[in-house]
Amino acid sequence: MNIPETNLPRIVIIGGGFGGLNLAKSLKNTEAQVVLIDKHNYHTFQPLLYQVATAGLEPDSIAYPIRKIFKKQKNFFFRVAEVQNIQTNNNILETTIGNLEYDHLVIATGSKSNYFGNDVIERLSMPMKFVPQALNLRSLILQNFEAALLTNDLEERKSLMNYVIVGGGPTGTELAGALAELKRHVLPKDYPDLDLRQMNIHIIEAAPRVLAAMSPEASSKALKFLKKMGVNVWLDTMVKDYDGDLIKTSNKDLNSKTLIWAAGVQGSSPIGISSDIIKGGRIKTDEYNKAIGYNNIYAIGDVALMESEENPKGYPMVAQPAIQQGKNLAKNFKRSFKNQKLKPFVYKDLGSMATIGRNLAVADLPKIKLQGFIAWLIWMFVHLMALVGFRNKVIALFNWVWGYLRYDKGVRLIIRPYKRATKEQEEEVLS
Ligand SMILES: Cc1cc2nc3c(=O)[nH]c(=O)nc-3n(C[C@H](O)[C@H](O)[C@H](O)COP(=O)(O)OP(=O)(O)OC[C@H]3O[C@@H](n4cnc5c(N)ncnc54)[C@H](O)[C@@H]3O)c2cc1C
Repeated sequence: MNIPETNLPRIVIIGGGFGGLNLAKSLKNTEAQVVLIDKHNYHTFQPLLYQVATAGLEPDSIAYPIRKIFKKQKNFFFRVAEVQNIQTNNNILETTIGNLEYDHLVIATGSKSNYFGNDVIERLSMPMKFVPQALNLRSLILQNFEAALLTNDLEERKSLMNYVIVGGGPTGTELAGALAELKRHVLPKDYPDLDLRQMNIHIIEAAPRVLAAMSPEASSKALKFLKKMGVNVWLDTMVKDYDGDLIKTSNKDLNSKTLIWAAGVQGSSPIGISSDIIKGGRIKTDEYNKAIGYNNIYAIGDVALMESEENPKGYPMVAQPAIQQGKNLAKNFKRSFKNQKLKPFVYKDLGSMATIGRNLAVADLPKIKLQGFIAWLIWMFVHLMALVGFRNKVIALFNWVWGYLRYDKGVRLIIRPYKRATKEQEEEVLS
């Protein structure tokens, strides 16, 4: 790996997401060698992936090169590699580019889609966790419309133009809203010879309300917004099966060539950590983010499960706990190097929000609940500020203003056509 030997303690961080990035940045000027490993050479701003999938933003405005973030940080090393195993007894990481010894290891590997054991749905549905997956979805949506133009079979055309999203959380509702806007403002201009009344957007949600993690006010307003935009919402409904065309649910069967999976996530813990402390793919930690039973291994963000009496399910798998845990752990490393007392993690809930479409958003803030235009403005401001890099902020803002004024989405490009893997190819990958 060509990481120089050092007398300083070596802190290795796996994952350059919200948690890993904030930890590594906050370790600047610490008496330690910091090594960050990620399988991608960029940080992904996942909350805006749905805009990449629906042609609203270019992928490079929500991704940022990790090396650029750390270009001035001393004693810092970044390597693009996938961690395959952790030898916890020997303090060694096994990666795709070789092994690396650590003094302290921080696991910040985030989460992955949870298909609740349904392999067929895993193979045939479209996830949206990473930039390439969002680009696949963008290509598929546009390819579907090109194919719909060519068929004279009405059922086939409807199936190509129907979109079924499983999961009515923020990702599902935001994606449904963005598709509804494509249908209303953009696709009629691109496909004047298609009858877009045949396009239907569905959300299937197992819970009795959308945005179940937000307030009842936010849920009911979001449902109203979705209905206003023509989205069909199926509450208390479970997906049972899918064959690439027919979606069987506990309520109604639907036909769609595109099943989008936004129904759940599980922790993405690397191999090597004792299964005794893993629950739902998340690593159980104490209040200092130290993995239970280990002396020098920590977990932060989505992959960390910090259970307590007040919080029996741990913190929500959203950006803020990851950011705040990264910063707190960095401070604790500094304190421990100075033999000072460590501070337990205390979560500051800054609220949550979701946007459904133009002028329509819901926001549960610490002191106030907002819905509609003001919430939408706040959503845009918060997301713009949270994007990494000035260039990305400017490009995203430009795209949003352009889209708002011109009722347009500028990136309707099939750069890399999406081809669903054959059953044999998938089985090879899954085996
Ligand atoms: C579509 C979508 C929309 C979302 N919207 C919101 C939102 O609106 N608001 C909100 O607060 N949260 C949202 N979230 C959740 C939020 O993005 C996560 O909670 C947050 O990213 C968690 O940060 P993290 O650092 O734990 O993990 P991540 O940000 O996921 O980072 C994990 C990193 O680890 C790397 N990695 C994983 N495994 C390995 C390995 N074996 N080897 C090397 N590298 C590895 C990955 O490449 C990645 O860079 C959304 C998530 C998704 C998928």
